[in-house]
Amino acid sequence: MEYKRYPRLRCDLSRLRRNVESVTRRCHAAGIRVAGVVKGANGLLPITEQYALGGCDQIASSRLDQLERAAGLGLPTMLIRVPMRCELEDVARVCDYSLESDADTLTELNALCARRNRRHKVVLMADLGDLREGWWDKDELTVQALRVERELSHLDLAGIGTNLGCYGAIVPTVEKMEELAALAARIEAAIGRKLEIVSGGATTSFRLVHQGTMPAGINHLRIGEAILVNYDLPHEWGISDLDDLSSQVFTLQAQVLECRRKPSYPEGEIFIDAFGRRQEYPSRGMRRRALIGVGKLDLGSAMRLIPRDVGIEILGGSSDHTILDVEDCPRPLKAGDILEFDLDYTAVLFLTAGSYVALDFLPVEESAALC
Ligand SMILES: *Cc1c(COP(=O)(O)O)cnc(C)c1O
Repeated sequence: MEYKRYPRLRCDLSRLRRNVESVTRRCHAAGIRVAGVVKGANGLLPITEQYALGGCDQIASSRLDQLERAAGLGLPTMLIRVPMRCELEDVARVCDYSLESDADTLTELNALCARRNRRHKVVLMADLGDLREGWWDKDELTVQALRVERELSHLDLAGIGTNLGCYGAIVPTVEKMEELAALAARIEAAIGRKLEIVSGGATTSFRLVHQGTMPAGINHLRIGEAILVNYDLPHEWGISDLDDLSSQVFTLQAQVLECRRKPSYPEGEIFIDAFGRRQEYPSRGMRRRALIGVGKLDLGSAMRLIPRDVGIEILGGSSDHTILDVEDCPRPLKAGDILEFDLDYTAVLFLTAGSYVALDFLPVEESAALC
């Protein structure tokens, strides 16, 4: 007998395509171009293809390998992690655009492009409070913009951008976007021309497009999460009317290893778990529990799984196992059964990067492509 391999990650390409089309249509209507960010799904080519077919203006990733894989799709590529020095050769070779935040790196990238007789477009990053990449001193940013424009012969100043909501968890408000637009206007005045790109952020900035409050000066976003999983805006930001975006592009299928009743409180002397942590174990008496064959190695954290069946609670896990309380699940479960889960961004990030996970792509239906 031939056994199917699990855990298995299913990607519904029709749903993905509709998400890409909805996001790009809405942004384009607001005068905003979209860099489709593929790093959340390891830049897998069948997924990146749907980004291209669905109307993205550029393909973006933090990883050069993923951009190289997308090279055949005919869209400009954008590196969205400011580059390491060791990457510059490949940045010049593989990417049309890169985000930049260091003056010496710009010097080196320009010299390298000159040697290779190439041109490369850069987007200079402004740190507006999130405290990850970008110039903090906006005068310095303006000086560097002028330097790219006038002195760095093989770099083109495509524009400026900012990133919010990552480290400092700063909300992209209308005020933050206006601050970026004002900075862009200042640089445009200094260089005497319009910038191609004023990039206002990621999925969390798409919220302003959805609400119709994005300031006019912002003309570019870099969007991954809303296209791939659409979890954050409906679940964390309380936006309930994103009807045209599916949250079920991805499904995890995992196989049950055992299912039996056990006490809910461990028996013996309690110390630290497999990851060095002291855990709390609520005592709820004897409960039916199921063990599935997927773990932190595959998922990052087991607690992020969202069961499709009712009455299932995630109790925890180790590198290769996840333990579920299924006492209140009406399904009779036994070893060999398959359980399905919805996923958030982090889970998809880990699952698509993991080599132990089988991948299934449900093809785009003709009807979906037509409507
Ligand atoms: C990951 C990333 C994005 C995309 O973020 P999402 O929340 O997935 O939309 C955009 N810009 C930068 C710089 C990133 O690193």
